[in-house]
Amino acid sequence: MKTMKKLLALTLAVLFVLTAFAGCGGKSSGNKLIMATNASFPPYEYKEGDAIVGIDAEIAAEIAKKLGMELEIKDTEFDSIIGGVQSGKFSMGMAGMTVTEDRLQSVNFSDTYAKGVQVIIVKEDSTIAGPDDLGDVMIGVQQSTTGHIYASGDYGEDHVTPYKTGNDAVQALVAGKVAAVIIDNEPAKSYVESNPGLKILDTAYAEEDYAICVAKENTDLLEKINAALAELKADGTVDSIVSKYIPA
Ligand code: GLN
Repeated sequence: MKTMKKLLALTLAVLFVLTAFAGCGGKSSGNKLIMATNASFPPYEYKEGDAIVGIDAEIAAEIAKKLGMELEIKDTEFDSIIGGVQSGKFSMGMAGMTVTEDRLQSVNFSDTYAKGVQVIIVKEDSTIAGPDDLGDVMIGVQQSTTGHIYASGDYGEDHVTPYKTGNDAVQALVAGKVAAVIIDNEPAKSYVESNPGLKILDTAYAEEDYAICVAKENTDLLEKINAALAELKADGTVDSIVSKYIPA
């Protein structure tokens, strides 16, 4: 009889511990997918009230659903995303981020989910007609983006002024402080729409792939993200999210 009681008590204790663990499992950070982004990059990520919305936010939500994880989006400076992913502060970075050889030294990238194009914005009456005309002028860029990196390489640092956000670079163009801005095509469209007197040149500056970055050692998460992405591409989810924000 005594042994039965002991056994019962032990079973209850074990059950109690298991339930306690299961209970917090749902909320623990282990089950959270923390995405770092820079929410001033429409239509990939931008703010609608307090919410961060856009193509990346929606694709991330679908990935999290497939992984059975809870998505949390953190807004941060673009150039602190990779460092935060490396240190484990964020599980992944998703910010219309271009895959580059340089960044691949620091993080891994998922399969690509969208194409990016670097374009040139100028004033409507500008004589600049393409990349060849940028040699002697001042170019505005968003700090640490591929536009910044490529333009510094092609035209020299002296010809490039980095700004904290793409919008700051565009305001510098409006104010005549720079003669052109090199930036990703989709945010470019929205900047030109909201700032009369600007145009996007037909000749693109560069073409690139957007992907999600993950810490080098986190290969398990990378594989899961790639598997989820493959399914979301195959069943048309990615396409339908993209066309919701970028009408053909
Ligand atoms: N695609 C560019 C890059 O990766 C810009 C991204 C961004 O500003 N969010 O550098």
